[in-house]
Amino acid sequence: MTKKDNTDYISEINRLKKNKNAVILAHYYQTEDIQDIADFVGDSLALSQKAASNNADIVLFAGVKFMAETAKILSPEKKVLLPDMNAGCSLADSCKAEDFKKFIEENPGRTVVTYVNTNIDIKVLSDIICTSSNAVEIIESLPAGEKIIFGPDRNLGNYILNKTGRDIKVWNGTCHVHEEFSLEAILKLKKEHPEAKIIVHPECELPIRIVADFIGSTSALLQFTKKDDSVTYIVGTEPGIIHQMRKANPLKEYIPAPPKDSTCGCSECNFMKLITIEKIFKCLRDEKPEILIDTEILNKARRPIMRMMEISEKLGL
Ligand code: SF4
Repeated sequence: MTKKDNTDYISEINRLKKNKNAVILAHYYQTEDIQDIADFVGDSLALSQKAASNNADIVLFAGVKFMAETAKILSPEKKVLLPDMNAGCSLADSCKAEDFKKFIEENPGRTVVTYVNTNIDIKVLSDIICTSSNAVEIIESLPAGEKIIFGPDRNLGNYILNKTGRDIKVWNGTCHVHEEFSLEAILKLKKEHPEAKIIVHPECELPIRIVADFIGSTSALLQFTKKDDSVTYIVGTEPGIIHQMRKANPLKEYIPAPPKDSTCGCSECNFMKLITIEKIFKCLRDEKPEILIDTEILNKARRPIMRMMEISEKLGL
């Protein structure tokens, strides 16, 4: 290819997808061009379900590493590709297996529920996985009185604790994107747009959640803007989701919630944004980098994910 612009890459990607029976799964936090070439765009839960249910030979994951690992765990027979292995997650990295194991030992007799945003060695230590779309329902599906450990996100953990009233010990981890939103800047925006609804992700800090009109997972926020009759929203999550909100309702206004440092652009997830159209093309062409997981570890990590999938299916989530 001589002229390397996105249009060339996109037509090559489409050709390669067809020839290789490949699908591209993209997370809502990917850039607009990537969301537009994907076969399926969704949040962690929907992408996990899609990874398990499609008939492709190759799954190219436009997202971060823990998501691609989850796809591989659910579809071990498929080749799962991640265009950039440096696409990690600050939240996953805030929970190291050695420390989390100690935390479990210090709090014996508790069911270990972890958010899907973890590295595989944390999944191995878990009883059930959840996503922000099903976290409350997963916790509520456990027998009343069952004691729980939740990790790694402290904000999501405290949100679930308040919602369910269950006995939950919460790990002290955070996502650098959702911790960054400025309450002061959000309230200033609200003054300028009094008609706007503030909608935020449960990974946001408590003061941000308190002023919110609606709290939900990324896909719940999207659904809310589709059904709600307001015309302006201040959106407290990674701004990549706004692309799907605009596609669904182009006449509404979506204002990204500002970060504490207005110069850093840090309400964008720099890990998610490592994936580019060019990297997707090269990855599909060369069929690497590929997610490879030791079979024993894969099987151990699969159990808590399957428990989540079964509970989600039973509850119709
Ligand atoms: S937005 Fe936060 S939780 Fe999601 S991938 Fe980026 S760092 Fe991880």
